[in-house]
Amino acid sequence: MSPRKTTRRQTAKKCPSCKGTGEITESVRVGRARKGQETADRQTALCLACLGSGQAPTG
Ligand SMILES: [Zn+2]
Repeated sequence: MSPRKTTRRQTAKKCPSCKGTGEITESVRVGRARKGQETADRQTALCLACLGSGQAPTG
């Protein structure tokens, strides 16, 4: 008896830009007001490096 594990190997690397999440969080900054102080609001944007796949672009 030889129990085999069906664990799949993940060959795809995680996108370094979004760390595999597929989306990035950007801090919303107020233009020239408040000396560019960051606000509490953060917006989530689609990672342009991997287009939301979370995988590092190959080629
Ligand atoms: Zn990405």
